[in-house]
Amino acid sequence: MEIRIAENCGFCYGVKRAVAMAQKTAENDFTSYTLGPIIHNPQVVQSLADDGVRAVNSLEEIPDGQVIIRSHGVGPAIYKEAEDKGLDVVDATCPHVKKAQQDAKSVVDDNMTLVILGEKKHPEVISINLWAGNKGIIVESEKDAEIIPFVENMGVVVQTTFSQFKFQSIIGILEKKTKNLKVFKTICTATQERQNSAVELAKEVNLMIVIGGKNSGNTNRLAEVCRDVGCTTYHIET
Ligand code: SF4
Repeated sequence: MEIRIAENCGFCYGVKRAVAMAQKTAENDFTSYTLGPIIHNPQVVQSLADDGVRAVNSLEEIPDGQVIIRSHGVGPAIYKEAEDKGLDVVDATCPHVKKAQQDAKSVVDDNMTLVILGEKKHPEVISINLWAGNKGIIVESEKDAEIIPFVENMGVVVQTTFSQFKFQSIIGILEKKTKNLKVFKTICTATQERQNSAVELAKEVNLMIVIGGKNSGNTNRLAEVCRDVGCTTYHIET
């Protein structure tokens, strides 16, 4: 039997960096905590917990020590709250997400209407909007874009994992909603590259095995795209 591995696979740069930063904190004497699971992968989260890096849901659960901000990022109030509590902040926000947060802030600072293309409930989108004072209009679909009223100036920021195809189609609608459109194309290609590689390989093999967290949106999507091209696919964790 021949086993082939997809050309692009494994953790993206931002997640690899965040996990490495969390692992490094385990070497310290004080307890460290991640605000939310560092990654949607139960085995990695458990292995960090075994090394003393615990996942918590809010700063209230942290008495002292170090708090690690995960790659999706958080709003500015969390940094302030952590500082007020005397916690040491390890900021593992992916630099691509940081850029989207700063771009969103700059749109609002320039008195333009901010539109964020992304999933309304996704922590990354929430964090981007928080950096813009929660003033962004979040657009998930063409339908959402259609109902935006006409404005003089509009700035657009995009969730890093947003589909390129949907991005083009929604921008086409937004162009008609303003006189002055400034687009920050903050899409990261890591997710798309992995999906493309999975599809390519799924077309050539008899069986696909996708390894990753059952609770990971990205991993579930990888299994889905393989099934969509008619390849028998198993999604496993271990
Ligand atoms: S922006 Fe890209 S590199 Fe950063 S965490 Fe998201 S997918 Fe990974």
